[in-house]
Amino acid sequence: MIRYVCKHCGTQLAAFDSNQQTEASLGLQSLTHEERDSIITFESNGDMVANVICEYCEEAVARNPELSLLSNPLQ
Ligand SMILES: [Zn+2]
Repeated sequence: MIRYVCKHCGTQLAAFDSNQQTEASLGLQSLTHEERDSIITFESNGDMVANVICEYCEEAVARNPELSLLSNPLQ
């Protein structure tokens, strides 16, 4: 599975069967290698996790830019 998870609140935004989705179709090909390294992580079960920001957190960070410094406030 390829899962899109908000790096701030942990909400799963989307999940795809990795056999049906290519990286190109997910838009990952537009990222630089460094960006991919910082966004994509792999879980022990083989899932690929894209650490993104959900609409709610994006809005919250826009209002309070200092929140962006807290990558995992819930942990
Ligand atoms: Zn969020």
